[in-house]
Amino acid sequence: MDPRAVVESMLRPDLRGRTAYGAPQLDVPVALNTNENSYPVPDAVVAAMTRAVEEAARGLNRYPDREFVRLREALAGYLSRSGTTVSADQVWAGNGSNEVLLHLLQAFGGPGRTALGFTPAYSMHPIITTTTGTAWVDGMRGGADAGRFDLDADGTVAQVLEHRPDVVFLCSPNNPTGTALGLDVVEAVHDATGGLVVVDEAYAEFARPGTPSALTLLQGRPRLVVTRTMSKAFALAGGRLGYLAADPALADALRLVRMPYHLSTPTQAVALAALSYADLMLETVGVVKDQRDRIVDALTTMGLDPVPSDANFVLFGGLADSHETWRALLDRGVLVRDVGIPHYLRVTAGTPEETTAFLDALAALVPTHVGAAS
Ligand SMILES: *Cc1c(COP(=O)(O)O)cnc(C)c1O
Repeated sequence: MDPRAVVESMLRPDLRGRTAYGAPQLDVPVALNTNENSYPVPDAVVAAMTRAVEEAARGLNRYPDREFVRLREALAGYLSRSGTTVSADQVWAGNGSNEVLLHLLQAFGGPGRTALGFTPAYSMHPIITTTTGTAWVDGMRGGADAGRFDLDADGTVAQVLEHRPDVVFLCSPNNPTGTALGLDVVEAVHDATGGLVVVDEAYAEFARPGTPSALTLLQGRPRLVVTRTMSKAFALAGGRLGYLAADPALADALRLVRMPYHLSTPTQAVALAALSYADLMLETVGVVKDQRDRIVDALTTMGLDPVPSDANFVLFGGLADSHETWRALLDRGVLVRDVGIPHYLRVTAGTPEETTAFLDALAALVPTHVGAAS
């Protein structure tokens, strides 16, 4: 019998026939498809990481600090820079915020429970949810008073009351639309549910001035969680370090589901070194935001339809056949993301040179690729 058929027959029924998450990892001159920071880690930080890992290497015969105390302190210190004081016991971390989200679903979801998100949003939210046997409900964006991809309090609360989920996902700024949420929506959703509210703020550092973080709402709300990552603004996607801030009681509960010693000694050492150079690691955020705004302006001029963005990427509509345009850009050495929304593509804001390459390639295509009004 075909081994694939044997494996398929053993799989959990709800996993049969599914395909794994897979943004293409292609070797192209201009990779603008996974919202990484295009700038390499600065030399001074590379040196600090190398020293830290070398020191740690001798102790690798021992398990790492299971409670990653120093890392939690450093992450709390970093979050507190925004003006909202966060303490180390409010912080939890994992190998990427995806693992932190998994811990949340393992602890607060599971068979017989439901999670609600508002689509289009981060494609991993439903994948992580269903992996834990939690049912997923696809809510909708764009209420009566809301713009195209916005969420308003009334529309969101109505969906929460309809589905009574155990977990609600909000994403701000939202991937793939770039849209930030008003805190009124977070508060309204929190008050409408008796369950967990997760605000995924992976792109918080790119938000335009005046965009509030849900960190400011944590005090007195033990059902609220804010997740962050070092993968985007912090330019450490390969380091795999994501984290959350919540009530200490909630962070403590996640110790029930994590694998012991889940954060390796090298992971903790590298993340700590990066955090000790936070200003340097974040130095490119301003350039990236400028490129994002440049993309929005240029695409508007081209007659395309970009969505205003508070992240390091831009979702744009107005394409006749988005997959066709995706292919044509790839033929010109520019990899962007087809997020599965007809007539739209998503592009990451990279270096000025990468942005120029993308805009030039797209400008050459526009005369034949512009289409269907969005
Ligand atoms: C990129 C991204 C993440 C980050 O995942 P990591 O596992 O931390 O690399 C989380 N949430 C959203 C919405 C993202 O776009």
